[in-house]
Amino acid sequence: MKIDSVDAFYLRLPTVSDIGDGSQDALLVRVTAGGFVGWGECESAPLPTIAALVAPMSHSACHPVLDAVLGADFDSPESVGEIHRKVKAQCIDLLQADHALSGIDIALWDLLGRIEGRPIWSFFGAGNFPKTAYASQLFGDDPSATYEAAREVAGTNFKAAKFGWGPIGSGAPELDRDHVAAAREGLGANIQLLVDTGCIFEHDVERASARIACFEEFNVGWWEEPFYSGAIQEYSRLASRTRIPLAAGEGAHNADQAKHLIDYGGIRFIQVDTGRIGGISSAREVARYARERSVRYVNHTFTSNLALSASLQPCADQEGLAEIPVKTSELAVAIAGASWIPDINGHIWAPSRPGLGLDVDAKAMSPFLQDLEIRWQGQVLWRSSGL
Ligand SMILES: [Mg+2]
Repeated sequence: MKIDSVDAFYLRLPTVSDIGDGSQDALLVRVTAGGFVGWGECESAPLPTIAALVAPMSHSACHPVLDAVLGADFDSPESVGEIHRKVKAQCIDLLQADHALSGIDIALWDLLGRIEGRPIWSFFGAGNFPKTAYASQLFGDDPSATYEAAREVAGTNFKAAKFGWGPIGSGAPELDRDHVAAAREGLGANIQLLVDTGCIFEHDVERASARIACFEEFNVGWWEEPFYSGAIQEYSRLASRTRIPLAAGEGAHNADQAKHLIDYGGIRFIQVDTGRIGGISSAREVARYARERSVRYVNHTFTSNLALSASLQPCADQEGLAEIPVKTSELAVAIAGASWIPDINGHIWAPSRPGLGLDVDAKAMSPFLQDLEIRWQGQVLWRSSGL
């Protein structure tokens, strides 16, 4: 069979705030072949990503992404790989192409799983192992709000929790200590604490280092994203100064960037996002690469359960931690339901049903669908379609 159609759906909350919450809008991709349907989600800014799908060829290194997808042969994991390879080769200089490819690749794997009646992870061979779910959320606006959020987690099955972004790193180190102390106290002694500083130190190793004492005092399980993803030298220098394991990778836009972090950044956890790095195919490549080098692979997910299922497929064959967004937006809930709740042991699994193992709720999503048209020289390049 051949790929018959690719549609993208721009969804958005009525109000989008200037906070580190990527679930305020969404770009879903729907791919069809032979009467079957697959879904994927890009973790990216929707409008430039839609533009990458259809923008007229600039030159031979900048084709519209859809050129490599529509009409392509499709019947096996190898055909997913061939479409993936062709997009990369035709869009070398189109930076948004990897984000667009991510949603398409996920949708292709979902489509293949549905055609063959198998969960995606089963194509990778080694089973589906439980993950220790960690509750992922933003720091509160002040330490008392962080404490209250931690107390909420303490009353659940979660065995680990991460606090990130918000005010952390933007003020004095003493304020960061107050936040981390509040999180630690709120969680209690039996829940692991992880911290995400959201690239706040940019390239400044000294400013980051001023937080080492605090993070070590509270035995933080990992220190995520002190710097921009590409600041590999800075990661390496900080890693040599602290016993706290560094974690990064959500900002990697392709598998090579993630491999560089693994090889040269001194990180001990790699956290790519399947919706950004090139989909399940690229994320699986990174997961295998990390395992061979004793770096732990952990999903990055902060949007819907569709994205969460996609993020667990590449690493279903290993135990470890898994990020579960717990303060999901109204939009994320509309896409694929409320936040997953771990079992009494704090575990979650990748779904066992075919494909991604869940259904998107078109009716619930419809109120968030954005009307969009892209025109060029009087020609309509893109018009949003109904769900
Ligand atoms: Mg993060």
